[in-house]
Amino acid sequence: MSKTILVALGGNAIKQADDKGTAAEQFANVYKTSRELVKLIKAGYKLVITHGNGPQVGNLLIQQEEGKKMVPDMPLDVVGAMTQGQLGYMFEQALGNLLRAENISTPVAALVNQVLVSADDPGFKDPTKPVGPFFTEDEAKAMAAEKPNWVIKEVKPKEVAKRFRRVVASPAPIDNSEIEVIRRMIDAGIIVVASGGGGVPVIHGKDGLEGTAAVIDKDLAGAKLAELINADVFLILTDVDHAKLNYRKPDETDVKQVSLSQMKALAARGDFLKGSMGPKVNACMKFVENGGARAIITSLDHAYEAISEGFGTQIVKD
Ligand code: ADP
Ligand code: MG
Repeated sequence: MSKTILVALGGNAIKQADDKGTAAEQFANVYKTSRELVKLIKAGYKLVITHGNGPQVGNLLIQQEEGKKMVPDMPLDVVGAMTQGQLGYMFEQALGNLLRAENISTPVAALVNQVLVSADDPGFKDPTKPVGPFFTEDEAKAMAAEKPNWVIKEVKPKEVAKRFRRVVASPAPIDNSEIEVIRRMIDAGIIVVASGGGGVPVIHGKDGLEGTAAVIDKDLAGAKLAELINADVFLILTDVDHAKLNYRKPDETDVKQVSLSQMKALAARGDFLKGSMGPKVNACMKFVENGGARAIITSLDHAYEAISEGFGTQIVKD
């Protein structure tokens, strides 16, 4: 039986820090990323791919704001689904083309994917995740009047004019709504792109599932999906080759292979920063805690070495 790897791709896999974010740039990055993934596919691994959507959702929200005088603006859940479509399309094309060029017939298909969260998640009471454009104080007041259910907070130092931003909840993923579809696709030998941007967050409403204004952490949603498909490995690919202790200090050191309880002790030191490395480490620990054999954090260009030679930060069962 070939092993299944849930690959979680960070933002830089699609948009580099100094990119404008043009379609051409995004395609070029998706191709580069897909070339690394092809190495794993050629080695016989089954892949399920998830990805971030932060820069894409940010740009699309700006387009909603700027364009709403001419066409209706779409809510955050719909915008999330739009980015899943965009990025799923790019992977279907890039990864599909690269595989066909190697005479590999494995199909690639992306899914617009909902992820269930609880309406009672504490995140909804105190939203902290900034999304969309920055506003001046006057713009923020006007937005608050126009969108009474938005929470707008001051997020930047006072010296900056545009320092207000909408904030939303970042609730914990409970279940993946299309899990049966994903399982059947994997069984049929399809490379699945799912749960992009953490999935479109949905809650149980009075008529069934309904979208909610939130952003689920893509690493946590990836860990949940990895668990639900019984992945052998949960592989987080980002822009650093290891999680580090004493991060950005002279005595910085790489975390290599550690057991779950060792990683718990290391995480308690606080070196894995909130909002970047912290959620990745938490997601890895969740996956292993819930029965997963191995979770890895490394950089995109080390994906193959991580799987074949044990490179990167590797968290295994006790
Ligand atoms: P992604 O887009 O892949 O999700 P993030 O920017 O969210 O990437 O997280 C990766 C970043 O985490 C690294 O570029 C690094 O700046 C930061 N980071 C924070 N703490 C650590 C740490 N202890 N070790 C390594 N990187 C860390
Ligand atoms: Mg991140």
